[in-house]
Amino acid sequence: MCVNDHASEDFQPLTRTVDWDVIILGAGASGLMCATVAGRRGRRVLVLDHARRVGEKIHVSGGGRCNFTNLHADASHYISSLPAFVTPALSAFTPHDILQWMKRHGIGYHEKKLGQMFCDQSSVAVVDMLFKGCQRAGVRVGLHEEIVRINTDNDRYVVTTRHGAWSTHALVVALGGRSMPKLGATPLGYAIARQFGVPVVAPRPGLTPLSCSGEMRTLCQALTGVSLPVTVQHGEVSFTDDLLFTHRGMSGPVVLQISSFWRTGEEICLDLTPDIDLLARLKQSKEQEPTVALRTLLSRFLPRRLALLWLERFGRDGRMGEISDRDLRLLADSLRHWVITPSGTGGYERAEVTVGGVDTRAMDPVTLACRTHPGLFFIGEVLDVTGWLGGYNLQWAWSSGHAAGLAV
Ligand SMILES: Cc1cc2nc3c(=O)[nH]c(=O)nc-3n(C[C@H](O)[C@H](O)[C@H](O)COP(=O)(O)OP(=O)(O)OC[C@H]3O[C@@H](n4cnc5c(N)ncnc54)[C@H](O)[C@@H]3O)c2cc1C
Repeated sequence: MCVNDHASEDFQPLTRTVDWDVIILGAGASGLMCATVAGRRGRRVLVLDHARRVGEKIHVSGGGRCNFTNLHADASHYISSLPAFVTPALSAFTPHDILQWMKRHGIGYHEKKLGQMFCDQSSVAVVDMLFKGCQRAGVRVGLHEEIVRINTDNDRYVVTTRHGAWSTHALVVALGGRSMPKLGATPLGYAIARQFGVPVVAPRPGLTPLSCSGEMRTLCQALTGVSLPVTVQHGEVSFTDDLLFTHRGMSGPVVLQISSFWRTGEEICLDLTPDIDLLARLKQSKEQEPTVALRTLLSRFLPRRLALLWLERFGRDGRMGEISDRDLRLLADSLRHWVITPSGTGGYERAEVTVGGVDTRAMDPVTLACRTHPGLFFIGEVLDVTGWLGGYNLQWAWSSGHAAGLAV
């Protein structure tokens, strides 16, 4: 049996007519967690997915090293119409609980920065852990199963695929968001919610690069490949991390973070020297090194290509002793309060997550059950819960999957 690529051959053919205690739609992070927990409780669980293998997004997560949790995961790191919604599930299955799972399965991990926990080896180890957990718990997984429709039959949900129909009292929708269609993402989870009259908060791409147009795009193109730490502000929210100029606009962790808050037409403000009082340093240098060229000095605080291009735009250069204090202030201000209006995002093709989704106000935060439809559950990214970059989204998948796994 191939343990690194859990394809459909790993599973026996499905029996077409069986009723299941639980059917989970989606064999991603939240669906597999839910299946393992429910299976361990003795529930007969069927997982259905149209993909060729389970856990596609886990495979690619964290650049292949899976940033599987964040030690600081709490409600303040999630975007949702109901921010406190995540608290019960996150408190019942915490980052330390998933660390224990990793330990028990011999998966090494380390903290990269800011509580971000990565696997020492490949993210395949995490998919393996979930896959084996499902197997041990007697869970059945049907891959290549395209879901054609969901019906209700008295108090049962009937799931029809191209290969058969199965019914259950407990249907868990773990179909993820719309980001990265090439990894199997579809809007089916939202369609199922709407079918049952559950509201959906308008989805949009999150954790995505931002594109620029016109003069800004030309500037970004000239700086493609240049990276530097910056602070980006949008309204009350700000992040400090690395920015990367690209031929389309801007990327890097700080841009992905702010993109989840940004909407079309809005401005963001960048501080390109967040760690220093630039004006004070410029004035100090003017006194102490009056013969040094401004471009040489600025290159000490910024990548050289950026420093040169900035001075070209600013229209002022020369020896430090010749630059007026007023010009130094204008220069420092321009670098510390660079206001831009991105023209768009990288779309779902480049977004790591989807902001918005099935409205949490219609769900029970402890069980993840839909308040109006007994036996219908929504977990993971399909919900209107979006974590910051840094392991928060997978933690939400684990916690919400665990909560529903205990409830079904
Ligand atoms: C490139 C990338 C890197 C990421 N890195 C990280 C990271 O390091 N840390 C982190 O915390 N988060 C990361 N994320 C986000 C994280 O992977 C997701 O938030 C998480 O996987 C969501 O889990 P889920 O179970 O809700 O959905 P998914 O894992 O997306 O699972 C949904 C499943 O439903 C299936 N499905 C969808 N539509 C249908 C359909 N019509 N019929 C049948 N099946 C269907 C899919 O095939 C998929 O298997 C990353 C995302 C991407 C795209």
